[in-house]
Amino acid sequence: MGLFEHRPAVDTHTHTVISGHAFSTLAENVQAARGKGMYGICLTEHGPNTPNGTPEFIPHSQRMLPDVINGIRVYRGVEANIIDYSGKLDIPDKYLALCEFAIASFHDFALVPGSKEQNTAAYLGALRNPYIDILGHPDDPRVPCDFVALAKEAVKQGKLLEFNNNSLTPHRPNSKPSLMEFIRVCKEYSVRVCVASDAHFCTMVGNVTPMLQLLQEMDFPLEQIVNYTAESFDSYLTERNARLAALAK
Ligand SMILES: [Zn+2]
Ligand SMILES: [Zn+2]
Repeated sequence: MGLFEHRPAVDTHTHTVISGHAFSTLAENVQAARGKGMYGICLTEHGPNTPNGTPEFIPHSQRMLPDVINGIRVYRGVEANIIDYSGKLDIPDKYLALCEFAIASFHDFALVPGSKEQNTAAYLGALRNPYIDILGHPDDPRVPCDFVALAKEAVKQGKLLEFNNNSLTPHRPNSKPSLMEFIRVCKEYSVRVCVASDAHFCTMVGNVTPMLQLLQEMDFPLEQIVNYTAESFDSYLTERNARLAALAK
């Protein structure tokens, strides 16, 4: 069994009531993370093109939050919506620049899935946005795309792809074949990934056991999971901050 028995130190994808359709507060999510002995969570609310989602300035508001809440490091982030096939996002760069960790996701409520080529172009465009760290749930079978193209671009840009536990829950049913193909591609191309809960209720925070079991079955290298330890996650953030600092010059 080994290390896959443990949960990641940082859950990189969590929502609160602010997202408009989730069920717990930040305080409840933090309490849940604390109860599980975790190091941190990324607060990644849905962007404004989600029905009843957050305003585009949510990263500005998140600056009011302490870095550490009740012993849990809370990284300020978002889950921005991809809103066209060039990869445009519903949160402008000036606000994305305030985030510590930013996810870009394709949701059918913000953009109707197109052809495989169109969806791939949308994902690649989002990944090329300097403020975006990771693509959320790109294995979603409702949004067919070219996993190899995503993997190559992530490696080229020094970015991450997400293994989202909801691909193994009733939230995104029938995702497993697509997810397994996605995992195979990430393994083949040595893509760095995050394993995340996408929690919409506090008991889901840090709950990624089904994904870890599948990754173990598929012999996925643990060292490619950057949020597995606090050190490897913070090391990625140091790298992303250097990347953004170089861009500002
Ligand atoms: Zn999502
Ligand atoms: Zn989400």
